[in-house]
Amino acid sequence: MKKFNLNALLIGVLCSLIFISCEKEPIENFESSQQDFSKDLKVCIEKWDLDGNDFSKAATLKSKQWNPGQTIRVKFLNGNSFVQSKVKQYAKQWESYANLKFEFVSSSSSANIKISFREGQYANDGGSWSYLGTDSNSYSPSMHFGWFNNNTSDAEFSRTTIHEFGHALGLIHEHQNPVAGINWDKDAVYAYYAGAPNYWSQAQVDNNLFRRYEASVSNYSAYDPQSIMHYPIPAEHTLDGFSVGYNNVLSATDKSFIATVYPGDTGGGDICDGVAPYVSGASYAVGDKVTYQGQLYERTSTGWRNLGACGTISSDICDGVQEYVSGRSYAVGEKVTYQGSLYERTSTGWRNLGRCGS
Ligand SMILES: [Zn+2]
Repeated sequence: MKKFNLNALLIGVLCSLIFISCEKEPIENFESSQQDFSKDLKVCIEKWDLDGNDFSKAATLKSKQWNPGQTIRVKFLNGNSFVQSKVKQYAKQWESYANLKFEFVSSSSSANIKISFREGQYANDGGSWSYLGTDSNSYSPSMHFGWFNNNTSDAEFSRTTIHEFGHALGLIHEHQNPVAGINWDKDAVYAYYAGAPNYWSQAQVDNNLFRRYEASVSNYSAYDPQSIMHYPIPAEHTLDGFSVGYNNVLSATDKSFIATVYPGDTGGGDICDGVAPYVSGASYAVGDKVTYQGQLYERTSTGWRNLGACGTISSDICDGVQEYVSGRSYAVGEKVTYQGSLYERTSTGWRNLGRCGS
């Protein structure tokens, strides 16, 4: 059953109107668009841990990782060409930072990752989920998208596709990072997830949200609320007002972390990519970049500034984020770049997340 949310439509229209009226200065505070994203939070399900695995087994997380440099075969079990093309487009973002390749093969071929969409024999599964890492080999489907259709926004394709492929690369949920320390309002969270679209029991909420991983099995040393592997958290779900918006793109930590899990030449993400070597005798303008003896340099007014060694993964917070488009409507949590800074759409305006290049 297709879910049609009149409120969302109205909000979309409202956002568009507000944008048109603010074309010159889009990054001002907008009046509240009344969007309450907590009413329809679609989050993925911890698939790997719901099958009776105890946590001692989770300690074998590393054994679920693919081999660096491996080509992972991916196929679609169903779905139209549009949703398939969007999943391909966003899944490939990992390839810029992880030394892995996804090869999309025909549905009759053998594959490591097998993807279903909510239709046909899978029409009753409204969730989105993926098995963890090489566990994918043992299941068909191994990954499922329960809410993609021809009307899905690019932000949502990006958010959910990159997240599920993160699981398929072996990543676990960031809000369950042992050092996350989220001050949950547990009663509010139980009540929320008991309803549509999730219908989770308290045990499932415990499993998907509250349970923290052992330090020995978790992804990150530091907690990263910007991670693509983090659930959105409305402020009403915490006791101290802490909240996390929709993370639609890879965070700087996601990029640098996956490069440590799957090290090697990724053909992308290197700070020297696309930068020409220094040419003796050529003239350079301030801001020009060159490579020289394995280092990246930027021309300043007085000389050259060393930006680091080639081979370093770029951690620019604006990587992969599209520039603000005047007249477009944006959903809460969407990120844009504008005049050299990164912004995130909130329910009331835009939040400045910092300068690009940091
Ligand atoms: Zn997930």
